[in-house]
Amino acid sequence: MYLTIHGLVLRVTAYKDQDALLTVLTPDHGKLTVKARGLRRKNSPLVAPCQLLAYGEFTLFEYRGMYTINEAHALELFTPLRKDLQKLSLGTYFAQAAELLSQEDLPNPELLSLVLNCLYALSKLNVSEYLVKSVFELRGACLAGYAPDLDGCHMCGAPYPNRFDISQGCLVCTECQNRTSEGIRLPISSGILDAMQYICNCDSKRLFSFTAGADTLEKLSSVTESYLSTKLERGFSALDFYKSLMIPSDYLS
Ligand SMILES: [Zn+2]
Repeated sequence: MYLTIHGLVLRVTAYKDQDALLTVLTPDHGKLTVKARGLRRKNSPLVAPCQLLAYGEFTLFEYRGMYTINEAHALELFTPLRKDLQKLSLGTYFAQAAELLSQEDLPNPELLSLVLNCLYALSKLNVSEYLVKSVFELRGACLAGYAPDLDGCHMCGAPYPNRFDISQGCLVCTECQNRTSEGIRLPISSGILDAMQYICNCDSKRLFSFTAGADTLEKLSSVTESYLSTKLERGFSALDFYKSLMIPSDYLS
């Protein structure tokens, strides 16, 4: 049986002598594992559409629950991103996290759309990497069922809490913070809280339409990263590599 899908390549793993297994994020089938025959052979026509972070159209042949690529062509390769090691490593982190945020056979077109929009923003829009990273991490968490409660202190209801509890995904004010000491609570400014509320609630077409100071975006990115890695209970090699490429802001001042 043949099946034509659109999808984004999240991972490429060597398989047998010259083949590879791809993990592809699709709108209608969640993530799929597909076999790319002869991908590691010289001059394989599958090389471009089957590379990491390529978005393309794939015609698959299904036999006994295993999918093999019959034909593939790339629709978007995000070429500018591939020429910038820092952006490429950030995009690879998005792919690694999206693999955990998605499930097989569970359609999640919004997650695919989020990853594609973030890759597009990194490669073509002139927006801060911290902003794109924060949008991916927080919106991705929401789409996977981990939407935080950002509506006032979760203990007393005070309107402008200044701590975010990353394990519970909720806000805590100073007074309640002093009364209890459980959990990891990161300090957040009103600017960070505004940005978090925006990312969780905005229309998906306006994800990158907010602004904040460079310092706020850097701290926001640190909060959303801690939140996502706590929810997923793991770290990411591509994120570690990305951070190793960053110049600490102390060096620039
Ligand atoms: Zn409180």
